[in-house]
Amino acid sequence: MNASFSRSVKGEICKELPQKKCCALAECFGILLYCNTFSQSMVKIVTESEALAIFLPKLLKKAFGFSFDILPGGAAGKQVFQLTDPRKLERVMLSYGFGPSDTLALHVNLPVLEEDCCKAAFLRGAFLAGGSVTDPAKSYHLELTTTHQSVARETNALMQEVLGFAPKLARRGGGQVLYFKQSDLISDVLTLLGAPVAAMGIIEARLEKGLNNQVNRRCNCDDANTSKVVDAAQEQLRAIRRLRQRGEFEGLPAKLQQAVLAREANPESSLAELATMMEPPITKPAMSHRLQKIVQLAKEEQP
Ligand SMILES: [Zn+2]
Repeated sequence: MNASFSRSVKGEICKELPQKKCCALAECFGILLYCNTFSQSMVKIVTESEALAIFLPKLLKKAFGFSFDILPGGAAGKQVFQLTDPRKLERVMLSYGFGPSDTLALHVNLPVLEEDCCKAAFLRGAFLAGGSVTDPAKSYHLELTTTHQSVARETNALMQEVLGFAPKLARRGGGQVLYFKQSDLISDVLTLLGAPVAAMGIIEARLEKGLNNQVNRRCNCDDANTSKVVDAAQEQLRAIRRLRQRGEFEGLPAKLQQAVLAREANPESSLAELATMMEPPITKPAMSHRLQKIVQLAKEEQP
């Protein structure tokens, strides 16, 4: 996974807090379902994104009006946020429809995400905690990973509803991976997540690759043609040398003599060019025919 492109996408998403409280709650829900630990007794969010580390306490405050119980120590690298206070945890659980005595089976509680604004906010949170995207200069891959099977399935359905297309689902280790491999879908997802600059980066990378491919195709094609032309010309020149060594040039029909002279004088010319040098000028296939005849005669064994 290329960390730097993911980092810039997360930075872009974290630029703005959700304006409405409903969306702040939904975004927190996405983070909680895709974070490291979300249970009745503990919430633990670990991130390497500096932008998310700054954003997270503000988001929690906006959604619930309280702060984390344990904040990162300030060291670089992985940052750890925790909720351990039972009253805070109970409020979080209840907000998302999980009763305190429920045996907790985490899932995407859809009534919490009734509004369209909240659905997008939820997906933003899910990406911040469990998502990554590769640098489009290298490859196209955006994924969300979670350990909860039902969460993966429900996120899949939610994406289908909001975006009109769904990610692919795969298992990796004990986790569930939702992923996209198509550049146009990835740029749509990034736009929905609130990262239009990154989405544009994907589109630009695709255009650039498209252009490079076209140029490469043209070069390969030219090279192939050029080397074919050169190979053919060399074979003709070898044949002509053999015919001359055997003293057979004088005995050739006038048309073939003309072709021999033209090829000897113009070792690098194409068939079309040679054809115009004939007197009278002939077609390219006719020129090809004359030179093939020369090659063939040179190959014939002497009696
Ligand atoms: Zn909302």
